[in-house]
Amino acid sequence: MIVGVLAIQGDFEAHAALLAGFGAEPREVRTPADLEGIDGLILPGGESTTMTLGIEREGLAEPLRDLVESGTPTLATCAGLIILDRNHLDVLDLTTRRNAFGRQVRSFETNLELSGLDGGPLRAVFIRAPWVEECGPDVEVLAEVDGHPVAVRDGNVLAVAFHPELTEDGRFHRWLLDAVAMRAEKAPA
Ligand code: GLN
Repeated sequence: MIVGVLAIQGDFEAHAALLAGFGAEPREVRTPADLEGIDGLILPGGESTTMTLGIEREGLAEPLRDLVESGTPTLATCAGLIILDRNHLDVLDLTTRRNAFGRQVRSFETNLELSGLDGGPLRAVFIRAPWVEECGPDVEVLAEVDGHPVAVRDGNVLAVAFHPELTEDGRFHRWLLDAVAMRAEKAPA
């Protein structure tokens, strides 16, 4: 199972380490050729402007969009969520507000109950996090903070405003690998 981790900037190494711990093969993605043959995708947190510039520079926008829209299981966190919105790759029918939680609470942790995630609340680490400002009917909201969506799902895309790779909780990466396995089962031999 090869999972591409966008490695232009940001927190890609922590994601790769978690994936390897689950027995998957992480692959750092910097060019369109790196996307060849991957089964799943992670768009990590970082700085969304830098990541967007890198995506444009490397010609990654179109191939990334195609990959996600064709149903490749995708986990996006923080800046990754921003990159999928209407104003960036336009894969998810939503807009995000960057650094939404304001100066005083730029970074914080909270226990979050996610609908559909078994095993109780998770510890969510928010670092200069966005929230979802507005979203269309296909987007399922899984969790909110202060009335703002911070975890959403649309089919095989799971996007969260926080950083699951910074905690011991591997449930999101597990979800991604399970989605990859399920997709492989359904694919014609
Ligand atoms: N504030 C960052 C941005 O707007 C996102 C922060 C993060 O990914 N932790 O790009």
